[in-house]
This record gives sequence, C-alpha cells and structure tokens, in this order.
Amino acid sequence: MHVRELVVDLGDDHLAIPYVRVQGTAGDGPHLTVIAGVHGTEYTSIAAARAWAAELRADELSGQVTVVPVVNLPAFWARSPFVVPLDGKNLNRSFPGDADGSAAERLAAAVTETFIAGSDQLLDLHAGDLPEALEPFTLYDESPVADRARELALGYGLGHVVRQAASQKTVGGSTSAVAAGLGIPAITAESGQCGILDRASVDRHLRGLRNVARILGLAPGDVETFPAPVEHDSWVWLRTEAAGWWQPVVETGEGVAEGALLGTVAPILGGEATEIHAPAAGVPLFVTSSPAVTPDGLLMGLALT
Ligand SMILES: [Zn+2]
Repeated sequence: MHVRELVVDLGDDHLAIPYVRVQGTAGDGPHLTVIAGVHGTEYTSIAAARAWAAELRADELSGQVTVVPVVNLPAFWARSPFVVPLDGKNLNRSFPGDADGSAAERLAAAVTETFIAGSDQLLDLHAGDLPEALEPFTLYDESPVADRARELALGYGLGHVVRQAASQKTVGGSTSAVAAGLGIPAITAESGQCGILDRASVDRHLRGLRNVARILGLAPGDVETFPAPVEHDSWVWLRTEAAGWWQPVVETGEGVAEGALLGTVAPILGGEATEIHAPAAGVPLFVTSSPAVTPDGLLMGLALT
C-alpha cells in the first residue's frame, strides 16, 4: 500500500494526514472519495475505512478511489469527541473552511480542496460518538444532485435514510452539504455507537462501501439489493434548556408518537425534572447516552415519520 500524506499548515504546527489513492487499471470510471474520522472517536467508521483501503486492488478497479481513514487526527489522538481539541470547534460544522482560520477551519479547507473538490462522489463515514447511542442511518442533503446522493444512500444498505432540507440547516457546514454545493453527490453514513469497536457495525460500513463501489461501476461483482429503508424527509434535534441529568426513556430505532415522553432532565439532587416530549411522531436515530447535559446540550436526533 502506497500511503500518501496531506500536510495541513496550522500556523504554529502542522498535521500529516495519511491517505491512499488507488488508480484502477481495469478501465475508466469515477473518482470515489471515502473519508472517516471527521469525528476522531467514531471508531467503527475509521476501522471500516482502514479495512476497505487494505482490500483495494488496482487491477480490479475501473476509476479512482481515495480513502482517508482519520481526517481529524488531533481528536483521534486526544480521544476527543465531536470537536477538534485545538480550537474546540466541530469539524463537521466548519466546512468549506478557511486556510487562514483556526485549526478546524484550516483542516476543513485542506480537506475540501484536496479530497472533496476533485471527487465524483463522497462518502463520509461516521458513528454515534463517545456519548451517543445510534441506530444505523445515512443522510444526504437536498440539492440539484440529491437524486444521485439518494442512490448512494439506498445502496449503502442501512435501515434509515434522512433527506436534509436545504432550508433546515440542522448540520450546516458538513462535508455532505459542501459536496452537494459543489455538485458532488455525497452521503454521511452512520453505523456504530458509544466508542465501541464492534464487528457488526464495522461490517455494516464495509458492506455499504463495497456495494456503492459496485453500483458506481468501480468494482466488479453483482450489486446487492437491500430491504427498502425507512426514508425521512426531515428530522429535529432536541436540546435541553438547562443543565442536568439526562435520563432517556426511549431506545434508538423505536418509533415514538407525537407527544410521547422521550426522557427527563433533572438536577443532580432535588428540584423538578423537566419532561422532554416528542414534538412530532418519529424515530430516534441518535440519543445522547451520557446523562451529563449542559445548557443547550443535544439530547437526541428524531427523524420524523
Ligand atoms: Zn460523526
């Protein structure tokens, strides 16, 4: 394996992000880019990218594949969820980035320029982060290339697919939104949770990667068809006003009715618990599994049904 490095200038320091780029010799085809570790502690997605990179064979590929297993190296080494620890910013809200900005903004700018802009498709692999339970799903953004992004999402084979409206901006500054803005079909694929490196979640990612490569004509073999996922036209992210002890009473992947109790946020001792109710019927796709929530802290992502 010929490992390359993307050197990112952080001003007083630099990062060297390892990646592979395999030019297929079996024929012409698209340039598929797979990135993982935008959140550095979502290990199942990183493991899948590493394993898939190791199984790529130039003589079997028609087109080009780039794989970047750990984009957010500072978070990976620091075991730091959600953010780039150097500036405390969420990298997946920092795209397209700024080459003269803070660490996350510089990293985002380098990734946009080197990995996203030159791609024909982008797969960004994620999982529930260290304090997050998660039901496997894929996400794509409303855009002129949304239909092609949806094909990638369906081909990835996870049980839920969320289409994010352009007006909603729940996760603005994400890789998939920036790619969509550049006319590049992109999905965010989520499998795994809570920092656990479990085989089944890694295999779900690997199955999706292999199948998307076949769908695009990059890799040989029959395309796998999966049961139709539940498709959601929108989702809401529920937050707590006050800090407290978060106690969810629902599981990821289980449908809830409008008005249903989702959980409570209470003081550590004494006081009144605040009940959190579903604003509409839906399915919790991720739930904060840590009880420690701070003001405006994220509790859950509820995909509407
Ligand atoms: Zn993530």
